[in-house]
Amino acid sequence: MPAVDAKQNLAELERPALEDALEARGYDRFRARQIFQWIYRRGVIDAEAMTDLSRELRARLAADFALPSPTVMHRDQSTDGTQKFLLRLGDGRTIEAVFIPDTPSMTFCISTQVGCAMACAFCLTGKMGLVRNLTAGEIVGQVRALVDATAMRNVRFNIVLMGMGEPLHNYDETMKALRILADAHGFNISPRRITLSTVGLLPALEKLAREPVMPNLAISLHAPTDLQRGELVPINRKYGVDEIIEACKRFPLKRRSRITFEYVLLAGVNDRPEDARRLARLLAGVKSKVNLIPLNAAAGIPFERPSDEVVSRFAEILAERHLTVAVRKSRGRDIRAACGQLIVEGQKRSAGQHLAVTM
Ligand code: SAH
Repeated sequence: MPAVDAKQNLAELERPALEDALEARGYDRFRARQIFQWIYRRGVIDAEAMTDLSRELRARLAADFALPSPTVMHRDQSTDGTQKFLLRLGDGRTIEAVFIPDTPSMTFCISTQVGCAMACAFCLTGKMGLVRNLTAGEIVGQVRALVDATAMRNVRFNIVLMGMGEPLHNYDETMKALRILADAHGFNISPRRITLSTVGLLPALEKLAREPVMPNLAISLHAPTDLQRGELVPINRKYGVDEIIEACKRFPLKRRSRITFEYVLLAGVNDRPEDARRLARLLAGVKSKVNLIPLNAAAGIPFERPSDEVVSRFAEILAERHLTVAVRKSRGRDIRAACGQLIVEGQKRSAGQHLAVTM
């Protein structure tokens, strides 16, 4: 048996790379298709269980390759059906991912980093700072783990990159993950069913505009002026509102698709009628839809959620100006699985306590 680290990590290989790796070790290239089907379509992670391969081949594969997968450490279920998962990675770090059923589609919300460097003023993950980037295999691994845990194999689902982290701050691994997810022999998830949410890191956004595999785009805008946005989203001091909007106008959109603009409403900060009117002017001429997200308040977040009346009035002003607008219903609030509430609190617990809650 070779040492564990002599094994190649299957989770990190796109199919063409797997074909090359197989060939280099003397296997037939077409085995990559079979392996992808086993891993992503059927959820089999143990080469010994890949029963359409010869016994000898299975043994060789098991010796040559490994497939590390995130493990579910803890799982919370909300009264509305939303489930939050605490997943443990190979190095012991933990991340969170969320399953949101019946919206009406099934959606997995996954992370792209452990923590986040963006430090948005109202976001709990931002308080952690960046711990590290996830690898493509870890990003896809969340989908593998959640499909298993929620029995969603052979069910269509959407993916939103709205968990922990800033996807465009981990560009290469995120794009690689999207290619693995899209592989026709694997999950076969069309990029149309994936939404990438970003604060708008301009150079990366422009690079994204040239990608062959293009997800739907959501921009975390949150304020219509640089003065306001700079306070909430610190990176705005580098890439300002007008530059982001210009980049959005240039962004190649598929027919009938639009860019989503997320706008977290904070009482007395960015929720005035005047802010709504400014936002409407800013987005005139952009193929947009606005997603208003009343703040999910939590201890440590120095803002409050506006009243329902204020939220409705804000939405009406946008609608009157012919913008498409939705108010995001907050899901999973009782288990803190709602937007921006992903922060690994479990680190405070011991491993033993974790096990106790899992079982
Ligand atoms: N970094 C990316 C994706 C992760 S955050 C981004 O910023 O888009 C996903 C969304 O949740 C973002 O729009 C973010 O601004 C929002 N969010 C963060 N904290 C929140 C909170 N406390 N209440 C409501 N939405 C929040």
